[in-house]
Amino acid sequence: MATEAPRRWIAHVDLDAFFASCEQRDRPEYRGRPVVVGALPGHRGVVAAASYEARKFGIRSAMPISEAYRRCPDAVYLRPDLDKYRRASRRVFDILGQITPVVEAASIDEAYLDLSGLEKLLGPPAAIGREIKRRIREATGLGASVGIGPNRLIAKLGSEYRKPDGLTVVHPQQVLDFLAPMPVGNLRGLGRQTLKVFDRLGIHTVAQLREFPASLLEDHLGKRAAGSFRRQAFGIASDEVVTGRQRKSISKETTFESDVRDRDTLHDVLQALAADVASTARREGLSGQVVTLKIRFTGFETHTRQHKRPAPTQDERDILRTAWRLFQEGKLPDKAVRLIGVGISGWAQEQPEQPDLFDPPQQHRENRRLLETVDAISERFGKGVLQVGVPRKRNQ
Ligand SMILES: [Mg+2]
Repeated sequence: MATEAPRRWIAHVDLDAFFASCEQRDRPEYRGRPVVVGALPGHRGVVAAASYEARKFGIRSAMPISEAYRRCPDAVYLRPDLDKYRRASRRVFDILGQITPVVEAASIDEAYLDLSGLEKLLGPPAAIGREIKRRIREATGLGASVGIGPNRLIAKLGSEYRKPDGLTVVHPQQVLDFLAPMPVGNLRGLGRQTLKVFDRLGIHTVAQLREFPASLLEDHLGKRAAGSFRRQAFGIASDEVVTGRQRKSISKETTFESDVRDRDTLHDVLQALAADVASTARREGLSGQVVTLKIRFTGFETHTRQHKRPAPTQDERDILRTAWRLFQEGKLPDKAVRLIGVGISGWAQEQPEQPDLFDPPQQHRENRRLLETVDAISERFGKGVLQVGVPRKRNQ
């Protein structure tokens, strides 16, 4: 008798309109009203979160607050209370950790869980999903949407499928039917440019994407992107859940074929490594506060230098700037370099997925868009093709 492969069940848990829901929970008079958390009208800044009542007016996260106000002047406008949200988030993650230790934080209000093998203990996936929602509601008064499927993609699309307070379980044999009518815009890693290409090609649904000739798609999107979207269209995706605790750091290093003294070369290599580290961090939703520089000189003499930044980052420019300062000011011997590496660690408890209200919003949005573009292009053409420029400061 053939042994059956163990069935994989991945859950994606997403709190509904998280910041706004925390406010509505604490102030009953806000319930049933449009609530907008973020900048205040009359100020520069963006919407961090909108309650479902506010979304009916077309108000969305990252929208300029002036636009939100134009759409709904009668909404309740509130400044974010980040401590409150952190406390609520921590309680939710505690609850998820009681279901399984294999929990991956995707942001302050989103997590992936590996439920494989829990059926005997907790019942079928739908029962586990209901239990997760019940416990979160009981402990925090907050609603969550849960998607459960054979991999991360299906779990994520499942949690988005019915919101708020949704629960969607997609069995492996249902995956293709579940995806077929979906707009291609629901797929992961799809920017505005890609959407335009799909539009031009007449691809609007996942079913249409599946039927589109693979080679023609490659001509328009490049091999990597085309492959990624086709795999998604067939429901093929990673079922790995990596807990923040498992991964202690992200680091990349390069060994030179011959020893290097030239500072421009070292800076360029460090820049490429920082971009690689940052891209991994963003993909995994991690922000680190500690930057580590590793240098090996001729003869295997190895030094590391660390710096704790004032705030966690996943931006290659921050990582490079800090690493380069460590290189210049770390009192390293003046020798030829054999190996150079850079890493980040010291993870933030939760990730700055929501717009950071303390950044000038315009700059923040542009930074994010810039970094997303870098990721998209790296994905398409291979790493190192494009890096975000950092003004170089060196000792003269
Ligand atoms: Mg959410």
